[in-house]
Order: sequence, then structure tokens, then C-alpha cells
Amino acid sequence: MKTICDFCKTEYSIDAVPNMPVRCAVCGHTWVVPHPPRRSPWLVFIAALCALLAAIVFAVAVIAQNKITEIRENPLVAEIGEITTITGDDDITRFVVDGRVVNRSDQIYGVPGLIITSYGRDGILVDRQRFMPSATLLDAGAAVEFSHVLSVPIAGVDKIAVELEQTGGQ
Ligand SMILES: [Zn+2]
Repeated sequence: MKTICDFCKTEYSIDAVPNMPVRCAVCGHTWVVPHPPRRSPWLVFIAALCALLAAIVFAVAVIAQNKITEIRENPLVAEIGEITTITGDDDITRFVVDGRVVNRSDQIYGVPGLIITSYGRDGILVDRQRFMPSATLLDAGAAVEFSHVLSVPIAGVDKIAVELEQTGGQ
């Protein structure tokens, strides 16, 4: 940094602000070199806040972009709403899986087949069934409900999952 003699205006270069008054080598004038103004704590705080807000906005933008990408890759989702039981004429009780397929995109999509998989204890595959929901086309944002009775008895079924049949190719 620089300091200037108030009297003769000679300019001196210094590494740091001295703790004692300095004396001009040219005219003998002495003066106290002022400390540079400190950054206001408020300014530091506001700068930090701005950086934080920018980071949040960026994170939200990234999340929104991920969501858009995710919807584009999987416009349709199948979800289970309710699982009840029904006992048939053969006295065997089976699960009834109710749910819906939702079109999350802004385009019309054809509805693929649905696959309901039943797992037993320890995640062992018990059964895998394919069926077609009632709607063949789904408008943007629309949903179609489905209800399907499993062919296997409830005994031995621990977990039920539903998925959309992969139509192969993108
Ligand atoms: Zn001087």
C-alpha cells in the first residue's frame, strides 16, 4: 500500500500499516498512517446471504431439471392405491390390487401392460402377472384406475409391487 506525506506530498510504499507515526525523509513531517477501512460486518453478512441464496436457487434449478428429465424418461407411473382381499367360490382368499396409472407428462401416451409381482418372505418371487389396464391412451395429466385379482392365494405373499411393462426401445 501507499502513504503520502501530508506536507510535501512525497509518496511512500509500505508493506503494512506501522503502529507508530512515520517521519517523512524529505521534509521531516510526521503523520500517522490510517488503517484501511474495514469491511462492514453487515456487508460481509449480506454478501454471504447473497451467496447462500444463489446456491439455493441453483440447487432448486438443478432439482427442477432432474424432475423434468425424470418425467421425460418415465412419463407414466403406476401406483398401488389399496390392497384388499376377496374369497372366491373355491374358498381361496386372494389379494385384490387397486391402483392407477398416471400420465405425468404434457403429451398423450399409450398405456402399456402392467405387471404385478408378488414376493414372499425374504423377497422370494412368488408370482408375476401381466394384465392390461382399461384405457389404451392417457391424456396429458390424466390417470386410469385399475383393479386386479391375483391368481395366487394370500398365504405366502408378503409384498406386492406393480410396474409398467417395458415397451422396448425409447
Ligand atoms: Zn514530507
